[in-house]
Amino acid sequence: MQKVVIVGGGHAAAQLCASLIEGGFPGSVTLVCEEASLPYHRPPLSKTYLKDPDAPVQLLRPEAAYADAGVQILLADPAVGIDRDARRLTLASGKQLDYDALVLATGTRARRLPDAPEDLQNLIYLRNAGDAARLRAAIAASPSVTVVGGGFIGLEIAATAGALGRTVTVFESAPRLLSRSVSPEASGHVARVLHESGVALHLSSDLQQVRAEDGRVRSIVVNGEEHPVDLLVAGIGAVPETALAQAAGLECVNGIVVDALMQTSAPGIYAIGDCTSFPYARWGKTLRLESVQNANDQARTLAGVLLGTKTPYHSLPWFWSDQGALRLQIAGLAPPDTERLLRPGAKPGSFSILHFADGHLVCVESINAPMDHLAARKLLELGLNPPREALTDPAVPLKSHY
Ligand code: ADP
Repeated sequence: MQKVVIVGGGHAAAQLCASLIEGGFPGSVTLVCEEASLPYHRPPLSKTYLKDPDAPVQLLRPEAAYADAGVQILLADPAVGIDRDARRLTLASGKQLDYDALVLATGTRARRLPDAPEDLQNLIYLRNAGDAARLRAAIAASPSVTVVGGGFIGLEIAATAGALGRTVTVFESAPRLLSRSVSPEASGHVARVLHESGVALHLSSDLQQVRAEDGRVRSIVVNGEEHPVDLLVAGIGAVPETALAQAAGLECVNGIVVDALMQTSAPGIYAIGDCTSFPYARWGKTLRLESVQNANDQARTLAGVLLGTKTPYHSLPWFWSDQGALRLQIAGLAPPDTERLLRPGAKPGSFSILHFADGHLVCVESINAPMDHLAARKLLELGLNPPREALTDPAVPLKSHY
């Protein structure tokens, strides 16, 4: 009987369990989690979870869904070593698990501020439910919130803290917000909405010093100026969690390197989700993505491999971010310097930005236009390229093109 051991407690690990169960996988499945909880929904941790002091962490699947299918779950016991020759995984507790197939779904960890000491009471990085619980309590207790990093996580937290009545300031090192993931036009819109909601934004901000005393951040120095701090939240990106893979000699370059069937450089070892660096056939290049879609779809691809069907990973990337009343959705990936056209939305403040590369529609960013996002996903998945006049005319529904 084939033994599959999965390391990880995020969306990819949970989806792989679900897909193996659904597919009637005949072998045994063991899930090894570093955290003490079953896998849970991560996107709400920077949004709704912070708003409501009583909001629980929402499990992706109830305990019974695993137990009824015979999936063994080991919580609060991180994997610490892989013996590739013996095909054996060692956990922190000393427990050893033999495997035929080992799956690394180890995700990412929050990038740390370079010069800030660890364990400052009022400096928080958000990655897991424990961090979110600390952040929720800290926001409730702090009159002001200082956010370093104007990416998805930082801005979602900024919008939530603002809605809770806190004085919020964001410092972003780049000249615009969300520069890793969205167009300048979308950045500009997000900045305007945040500004109107009362969040103070500082772009091109060079964080020079974190001044701490008695285990607390007292102030930060940015572009030579000192700013007092009640609570400091750093959302400056994530790095792939590759320590276990690297220690076992697996090839890692900005993530654990896998092929389109999620196979790492070591026989019998696979990787899925945010920790992987994978070939993206649509572009003919290697990518690493941090998204629920990528985690779920790579898990489905790997379930197919373990169940005996080998369909290479080919999914269209899509992302979303909720920042207060602003819902930003992105379908596809935009290479730099695309040609961009505006498609007005149905309501004031709603619109989409259509990206064209070499005359082809490659990416659509939608702001408060969820129907257009769904239709754009379909168009991009099908590789359709309707005339631009029709795409930009709000009177012509995008879904009429497929
Ligand atoms: P996440 O999805 O975790 O929010 P992103 O990469 O989308 O990560 O965003 C991180 C943001 O933090 C980027 O906009 C990046 O320019 C910014 N950033 C990185 N380092 C610093 C820093 N030292 N000070 C301010 N902003 C920073």
